[in-house]
Amino acid sequence: MKPANSILAGFGTTVFEVMTRLAIEHQTINLGQGFPDEDGPDSIKRMLNTATLEGPNQYPPMLGIPELRQAIAAHNKRFHDLDVDWQTETMVTTGATEGLAASILALIEPGDEAVVFEPLYDSYVPMLRRAGAEVKFVRLQPPHWGLPREELAAAFSERTKLILINTPMNPTGKVFDREELSFIAALIEKYDTYAICDEVYEHLIFDGVKHIPLITLPGMRERTIRIGSAGKTFSMTSWKVGFLTAAPNLLSLIAKAHQFLVFTTASNLQRAVAHGLDHEQDWYTNLAVELQAKRDMLHDALTDIGFDVMPTAATYFMNADFRSLGFEGTDVDFCRHVTVEAGVTVLPVSALYATPDVDHLVRFCFCKKDAVLQGALTRLRDFFGA
Ligand code: PMP
Ligand code: GLN
Repeated sequence: MKPANSILAGFGTTVFEVMTRLAIEHQTINLGQGFPDEDGPDSIKRMLNTATLEGPNQYPPMLGIPELRQAIAAHNKRFHDLDVDWQTETMVTTGATEGLAASILALIEPGDEAVVFEPLYDSYVPMLRRAGAEVKFVRLQPPHWGLPREELAAAFSERTKLILINTPMNPTGKVFDREELSFIAALIEKYDTYAICDEVYEHLIFDGVKHIPLITLPGMRERTIRIGSAGKTFSMTSWKVGFLTAAPNLLSLIAKAHQFLVFTTASNLQRAVAHGLDHEQDWYTNLAVELQAKRDMLHDALTDIGFDVMPTAATYFMNADFRSLGFEGTDVDFCRHVTVEAGVTVLPVSALYATPDVDHLVRFCFCKKDAVLQGALTRLRDFFGA
């Protein structure tokens, strides 16, 4: 048979699926794939029920139901003082993942270059390459993941079509500050490019640090696509409802990709999420407070066990170097080892690099019940004799 598409054929199964399958197989405590073990607010579950029972359960408008698009616009105004016309500048996507894919497909022409930061969320590179982009990688370095300004400037060229920025960032827990974003914005203007901003963790941020959307910086309004996720904001990762905000000319282009990818997103989920955005601000702002306490607890406990733990300012995730425990294999070896031998699953960070040579870090997901985190820590303490 003729070979299928060689770009996609070259990628394995996503690491999140691989590690969760391994966790199930060995019946471990799974701190690998990023998902909370407690669902979001009951009010949105009830609204989902009502919306399903009341109907209609037929195709909603392609760009999303007005209720949710108005809620997305209001959310932009409430948190970032960003004035958005819901009719021309918002779109509902089937998860942030689809919003990212539609944006990439709408902008990239074969031969364009795209700048990304490593380590990165695993859907970016396959989608960029499949769209025909040559990907330019800029590595952030642990433990502080600062912006390497010279390297970033060198990654831009006349062929750069877009930069993809994830802030707050998975897996590093980094939050880009205003100075870093201004530096990036200057490059975007200089090279006349676009920015796709993956901001799915915008509310999961600690220590009073503020999330700054690039779209709010001078000159960025016409060039930036801002993407959020109900999965993250409401701890409902299965729901796959994304929020996209962009200037009208950009939005209408992305809508052309969206209409052929999925056309639209389940209407009952949209109504439930609209209810959440309008009425559950307290819920998701409290979630950040709870997560911050879990972060602090896990950080101290892993340090006591002997891990070299990195600071994290946001997201569900914390990274740690395991070499301080005397383990000499790779991160993939380490993850298999603790899964099989200690009954705890974590994620190898090398899977989030295009070239997996940074192989001494593992990612812990801490959006879990305290008892679950304590259970994992007890197992790790026993195993490492701490
Ligand atoms: N971007 C990042 C950085 C993520 O960690 C995730 C994981 N959920 C997504 C996008 C995907 O979001 P969704 O589930 O809404 O597609
Ligand atoms: N965003 C989640 C993580 O980083 C998982 C997403 C997925 O499973 N596709 O773990």
